[in-house]
Amino acid sequence: MTDVGVLPEHISRIDGDESFTFACHPKVKCFTECCRLLELALTPYDVLRLRKGTGLTSEDLLAKYIITEQEPGEAFPRLYLTMVDDGRASCVFVGEDGCSIYAHRPGACRAYPLGRAVTRTDLGFEEHFVILQENHCQGFLEAATHTPRRYTHDQELTLYNQFNDAVLEILQHDAIRNGFIPSHKDVALFILALYNLDTFRRLLLEDQLERIILNKEEKEQLTDDENVLKFAIALLHRTVFAQFFCSMPK
Ligand code: SF4
Ligand code: SF4
Repeated sequence: MTDVGVLPEHISRIDGDESFTFACHPKVKCFTECCRLLELALTPYDVLRLRKGTGLTSEDLLAKYIITEQEPGEAFPRLYLTMVDDGRASCVFVGEDGCSIYAHRPGACRAYPLGRAVTRTDLGFEEHFVILQENHCQGFLEAATHTPRRYTHDQELTLYNQFNDAVLEILQHDAIRNGFIPSHKDVALFILALYNLDTFRRLLLEDQLERIILNKEEKEQLTDDENVLKFAIALLHRTVFAQFFCSMPK
């Protein structure tokens, strides 16, 4: 969950139905500037799509393009896209013609210049938007008008947001908020199930995961990547937080 309390000067809140003017295309002077000098955190659904965009397995993607970091005190690690050491810290997927995996680019790249945060309420998650107006970005000089909600739809972010919100329920689980620290085994399952879908699927199909035996019908569902990720999210709830189900209902 992103804190929307105090914001830097170039970031401002915007209502979901408020208008803003922006367009990005290869003719802007700053084309691909925003694909450099950035820290790009990846969500599990981003990695699912990067597999499609690159044709690599999740195992190879993790080894080749993804850095895993876990700060002391954080319950789970964060995964970042590698940047190239070219003096400009360019994204591994940026070239002269733009993004080489454009159709499967991460959610943050689709959403730019918008940021989306969600806060928990008694009724569930509440959505908030911010807009980033960075000096180098010429897109704000263009004429096209959007609203955050329309832009979200136009950039095909709906499924990204649905999966990200589901993962957020793990990251912001009541148990974590109350100081529960997952074990090394939990963290290993977190990375395997959410970010290494191909290996996770293989282990499920071969009945190699401790205490998880799927029937034929359930295994057939695993041909679909989105289903594997949904299963992974549900499994993490069941295993990592199993001991809290009685005492800390959500
Ligand atoms: S993934 Fe594509 S859009 Fe995102 S930073 Fe890299 S090159 Fe740019
Ligand atoms: S800096 Fe802004 S206008 Fe320029 S390429 Fe990036 S998003 Fe588009």
